[in-house]
Order: sequence, then C-alpha cells, then structure tokens
Amino acid sequence: TGTPLAGRVAVVSGASSGIGAATAQRLAELGANVAVLARRKDKLDALVDSIRAAGGTALAVPVDVTGRDAVQAAADQVADQLGTADLVFNNAGVQLISGITELRMDDWQRQIDLNVTGVMNVIGAFLPQLSATAEAGRPADLITTSSIAATRILEKFSVYSGTKAYISHLTRLLRVELGPKNIRVATIEPGMVDTELPDHVTDPDATRLMADLIAQIDVLQSTDVAETVAFMTALPAHVNLTEITILPTAQV
Ligand code: NDP
Repeated sequence: TGTPLAGRVAVVSGASSGIGAATAQRLAELGANVAVLARRKDKLDALVDSIRAAGGTALAVPVDVTGRDAVQAAADQVADQLGTADLVFNNAGVQLISGITELRMDDWQRQIDLNVTGVMNVIGAFLPQLSATAEAGRPADLITTSSIAATRILEKFSVYSGTKAYISHLTRLLRVELGPKNIRVATIEPGMVDTELPDHVTDPDATRLMADLIAQIDVLQSTDVAETVAFMTALPAHVNLTEITILPTAQV
C-alpha cells in the first residue's frame, strides 16, 4: 500500500535539517505520525507545516538532546500528544573533525556530549515506550545513525570516528537484549551525504579536507538515507536489517 507505516508513532532526533528532516518527511508520507526533535524551533515548525500541508501528522518538540531531563520531558510530551512511540530514529549528531594535535578539546567534548551522551539520553527516555509497543505485539524500531567513519581509518576523524564506533558496537550489544523482546535494533552507516554537517567544523585544514572529498564525487542526498530508513521500518516485524552501510557509488 502507499501507507505501510500507517498508525506508527515515529520520533526523529536531529530532524531540523539533513538526514533527519528528510526521514521525518518520508516517514510521514508513508503514514507515520512523526515527532521531530532538534534545537532550532523555527526549522522544526517549518517542517511540521510542510508535513501537515501534505496531509500528514507531525509534532515539533524543540529539545537539546544532551540534557537528560529535557529528553525525558520530550518523551513524555510525545506520549501525551502523539501516542506511545514505536519507531525511534536516533539521528542527531555532530562532526567536528580536526587534527588531534590541534587539541580542540571543546570540539572533542561536543561530539561526545551529542553523539554518545545524547544518543544514550534518547535511548533511556524512549526505550520504555518501545518496550510497551513490543509487549503489545506491535512493531518497534530503534535505529541509530552511525557512519562509515565507525569502521574506516580516516585522518582527522579520530574523536568523531570513536563516537560512531561506539554507536555501531552499542547497537550490536543492544540487539542481544532487545531482539528477543521483539524490538528491532539497527544502525545505519552512511558515507558522504550532502547536509549541513561539515559546516560546523572549526579546524580550517579539516574543512578543506572535507570540501575536497565532497567535490570529487556525486555524494548521497538526505532523501537516499530517508528512503532506506523507511524501507527498514516498513519490513515485516520479524525482519531486522541490523547494520546498513549506504555509500555514494563513487566513494571507496
Ligand atoms: P545536519 O547537521 O544537517 O543534522 C544534524 C542534526 O542534529 C540537526 O537537525 C541539528 O539540529 C541536530 N542537533 C545538533 N545538536 C543537537 C542537540 N544538542 N540536540 C538536538 N539536536 C541536535 O547533518 P546530517 O543530517 O548529516 O547528520 C545527521 C546524522 O548523520 C549525524 O549523526 C551524522 O553524524 C550522521 N552522518 C552524516 C553523514 C554526512 O555525510 N552528512 C555521514 C555519516 C553519518 P539543531 O542544530 O537544530 O539542534
């Protein structure tokens, strides 16, 4: 059918731009009711307007996911206003690559705060809702955005890669506990996607490195990743695609 996700309650973090925004839009098109989480309220409101204009259902939940209490409040708001979350796309992340001897410790900390602590805050706040969904016999999904950087050895990517390796391995471990409880757990590991992600890099050498890499090839669009997440979540509940690598064809 055109609405394989009809009635699902989806939560997308990092939904104000890039991969998260495109995925929220796609899940809504496929019938899901979508809660969109990020800090920039204006961007979330615009996304919600666009989903509603297309006939979908969406709720803007402005939140900084690095704050544990704030994420819990967001989870409570989703349950109250949209229903029990049954699909969590744990996607907010920041990539502040730099040479390690630059000692950009603020950048190290920001990546750890969001890509590790923020990811755990979302899991902690929403897992009870996913568990309740699975116990009720309905499909439940927890998908986290890692990166090809989780497994590749790339110059200047050390701390970012470390946070993404954490996510990829965390996902393998979560499956051991949550798979038997009928919660589908997966990670998606994209290669280069055309988003705002590189815009926040503070090391000029690293900015040049990224710009050179991106200029060389036909990179992925956020909609390519969105379509993949939609595919993973629309599969029958007993089918779990666990670790999906999605690369631009020309990226090696
Ligand atoms: P964007 O920069 O476009 O998206 C990042 C999102 O995270 C934004 O919506 C941003 O919104 C949100 N965010 C940032 N900080 C916080 C915070 N403290 N609390 C809540 N939300 C926050 O980049 P992408 O779409 O590319 O990134 C999405 C994910 O994809 C990330 O995890 C990234 O590591 C991963 N990825 C991206 C690749 C790429 O090439 N682009 C490749 C592989 C993985 P706001 O500022 O409004 O809070």
